[in-house]
Amino acid sequence: MANVLYHNDIQDEVLKQKRIAVIGYGSQGHAHAQNLKESGYDVVVGVRAGKSWSKAEQDGMTVKSVAEAVAHADVVMVLLPDEHQPSVYQHEIKPNLEPGNALAFAHGFNVHFNQVVPPQDVDVFLVAPKGPGHLVRRTFTEGAGVPALYGVFKDYTGEAASIAKAYAKGIGSGRAGVLETSFQEETETDLFGEQAVLCGGLSSLVKAGFETLTEAGYQPEVAYFECLHELKLIVDLMYEGGLENMRYSISDTAQWGDFVSGKRIVDASTKERMKEVLADIQSGTFAKGWILENQANRPEFTAINAQESKHPIEQVGRELRQLMPFVQESEKAKSEKEVV
Ligand code: NDP
Ligand code: MG
Ligand code: MG
Repeated sequence: MANVLYHNDIQDEVLKQKRIAVIGYGSQGHAHAQNLKESGYDVVVGVRAGKSWSKAEQDGMTVKSVAEAVAHADVVMVLLPDEHQPSVYQHEIKPNLEPGNALAFAHGFNVHFNQVVPPQDVDVFLVAPKGPGHLVRRTFTEGAGVPALYGVFKDYTGEAASIAKAYAKGIGSGRAGVLETSFQEETETDLFGEQAVLCGGLSSLVKAGFETLTEAGYQPEVAYFECLHELKLIVDLMYEGGLENMRYSISDTAQWGDFVSGKRIVDASTKERMKEVLADIQSGTFAKGWILENQANRPEFTAINAQESKHPIEQVGRELRQLMPFVQESEKAKSEKEVV
């Protein structure tokens, strides 16, 4: 089994002496900044004037411009949206880095795909929590944490790995498990997971199931419950105890159906296409498309997004959820979403 580190395995002296700048105060930024501060670190937030600036100040953080925060800090964690990182890096971060500083990321995309090319004389590492920022914050306040991967791209000082591990502990991930990776592995597995399984695979599976039932004349409301609403229960069971636990809880009929029909839906040809998706990620084809899409101001992204929101499963879902106040987003989730 891979070497998973926990809170007490990780020394944090190396980071205690350093000043940390968290750049961006969105989903990950607000969580890292607050957790590190509460773990006793010297933290400043670097953002542009606007909503994030006031939010960080309200939360009691020391706030500076991106350039000033970088100039002040020894460790610079870049938590801007991936698409905006290259230009902010070029104009505000890079000119203010000093030899021996550490430049850090929560996702390897820009460094791995050469959109950010760090100087030779700084450490470069990643600490990637395997969960959304609001969970990184909430679990920390509850005395728990979100697991994280750490990886070193450049070890200039000889301390890069120690700093990365201490950083992961500082945001609370030592309580859940900290695992070593590389920029390449983190980037490629993260993109594959979200495309093939978590986001792309799942939303396409849900839509195809819903369409099959409604095209066969079944009521959209019933199809919505079967193909989307009930997923939460199944996923919670898998999260708690794997496929085994999910199969333990469902009826034997459902389990038999799982065994005989699941592999007719996701079959060897699906796996072949998953391999094609993975190959496009590994070759940089996916990254190039997404980078160019952003440079063109996202014409395709915008059009697909508008089309998707008109899908009948979304329309019937909006109506049904109005009648199920308990599945409405909680106030807490809404306020967390404001910073996402
Ligand atoms: P967000 O979209 O939540 O970041 C928004 C923040 O970036 C805001 O503070 C915003 O400020 C600021 N910002 C945006 N553009 C600029 C700009 N041009 N100049 C200065 N500030 C800017 O990002 P995430 O937290 O989602 O992602 C951050 C990193 O974490 C990414 O690398 C991502 O891949 C990674 N990550 C994200 C996860 C997640 O669940 N979200 C999970 C694991 C990793 P303003 O209010 O002024 O717009
Ligand atoms: Mg991702
Ligand atoms: Mg059923």
